[in-house]
Amino acid sequence: MSASGAERVVIVGASLAGLRTAEALRRAGFAGRLTLIGDEPYEPYDRPPLSKSVLSGWLGTDRLLLPRTRDLHARWLLGVPATGLDLEAKHVRLADGRAVGFDRVVLATGASARPWPEPFQGALHGVHVLRGRDDADRLRAHLAELAGTGARLLVIGGGFTGSEVASSGRDMGLSVTVTQRGSAPLAGALGGFVGSVIGERQRAHGVDLRLRTTVHSLVDDGSGRLRGARLCDGELLDARVAVVAMGSVRATGWLRGSGLVADERGVSCDAACRALGADGIVVGGVYAVGDVARWRHPGFDADPVSFEHWGNALAQAETVAHNIMSDDVRQNDALPAFWSDQFGMNIKAVGMPGIADQVVLTQGSFEHGPFVAAYGLAGVTIGAVAVNSPRVLDGYAAMITERAPFPPAVNAADGPDCPVAGEAGIPRPATEPAGPAAASPLTAPAIVREGQP
Ligand SMILES: Cc1cc2nc3c(=O)[nH]c(=O)nc-3n(C[C@H](O)[C@H](O)[C@H](O)COP(=O)(O)OP(=O)(O)OC[C@H]3O[C@@H](n4cnc5c(N)ncnc54)[C@H](O)[C@@H]3O)c2cc1C
Repeated sequence: MSASGAERVVIVGASLAGLRTAEALRRAGFAGRLTLIGDEPYEPYDRPPLSKSVLSGWLGTDRLLLPRTRDLHARWLLGVPATGLDLEAKHVRLADGRAVGFDRVVLATGASARPWPEPFQGALHGVHVLRGRDDADRLRAHLAELAGTGARLLVIGGGFTGSEVASSGRDMGLSVTVTQRGSAPLAGALGGFVGSVIGERQRAHGVDLRLRTTVHSLVDDGSGRLRGARLCDGELLDARVAVVAMGSVRATGWLRGSGLVADERGVSCDAACRALGADGIVVGGVYAVGDVARWRHPGFDADPVSFEHWGNALAQAETVAHNIMSDDVRQNDALPAFWSDQFGMNIKAVGMPGIADQVVLTQGSFEHGPFVAAYGLAGVTIGAVAVNSPRVLDGYAAMITERAPFPPAVNAADGPDCPVAGEAGIPRPATEPAGPAAASPLTAPAIVREGQP
């Protein structure tokens, strides 16, 4: 039993955030009944390799199971979606008709890939999304079939997932076109300035990068297979396989009618991961963790967002376990951090570069090789990104935590003689669509800032 008297904890979503919350609970001494509910038939596995080593063929999806740090003594209900949450009766409804009672419930249902907005086109053979194991297996098989044929892979959206898929496609020798609605790949997360630097490096690896370009429609070959894509300028781009990488939609549909504030942007919660009701007041006994949680980080002056990063799921899992086990409410103030591997670059970022107004090169060179750039907002250092220089980021993390003035005094041996700060170029919805989105004649997809808070 926890200090607060909970004997039954139910975790909905059996992936990274759910598993790590369960482990943290047991580590904190929770001895009651623990149930994990997951709609996928698989035990918790790691998603980051799906767009990287899995697509490139280095790792099979059967090798992705997340390591378990302890025996959980938990009841696993896998392959069955939760369909409803009844806060009065304190139970989770399942698709097979069962109801699972709880004293505390943890919402860890993550997100799904935003689908192509026109369902017929989205269902064409050759059109893919990438979020889970099955998606990766299908896409990998399709790419392997096309390798060496000269066929083109079209990636719609130049956010992190799209860029990593493009990189894997180039590794397989495919010709790759990426369409990006904004002015640069990764612009939503890292800003147009650094995004352009990365875009140039993608081009140097042979990517046909089409900026300020939307896909108007996906075109059928007459037999239900993808023939190509009609671009906004009228060009018909020949492509046998397309990956729709337009960001994600938080998996909250099953919470409809629960009384929680939940939509495709996530479940509203406070920094202590406690779910909020429509009145903005904490709903007792309900917690959100991982990609599905939408919250305001206490260290930044920013709107609530869901941090779709691996490290955030871990940090929040610890917070939730603590707050279930103790009456001493703790906030999660861990500094956000994320990484991406693509085109021979290890890109690692800390803080919240995606809300910056300025950026400055602090180490290395934008032209070639490793570099580090720091981000500022209203004269305070709030983020940093390192390309092929991950070790130096600890120092920047300390500066961000201390709210060091921007530009920061780095004084590195490989720093520029005269650092000059410029506009970060973070897309603002009013001026430029943020992140990868595709125009559709039917439904304009919502703006998603993929892979960034
Ligand atoms: C292709 C890819 C590459 C990535 N690469 C990186 C990277 O390089 N660096 C990085 O920092 N992050 C990366 N991420 C993000 C990282 O994987 C996520 O932040 C992490 O998986 C979040 O874990 P989660 O448990 O919150 O959500 P998820 O991993 O999405 O898990 C949620 C689980 O809940 C299940 N679920 C949904 N609805 C229901 C329901 N109604 N009932 C029961 N179960 C349900 C889902 O099927 C899923 O199994 C990547 C993600 C993807 C998809």
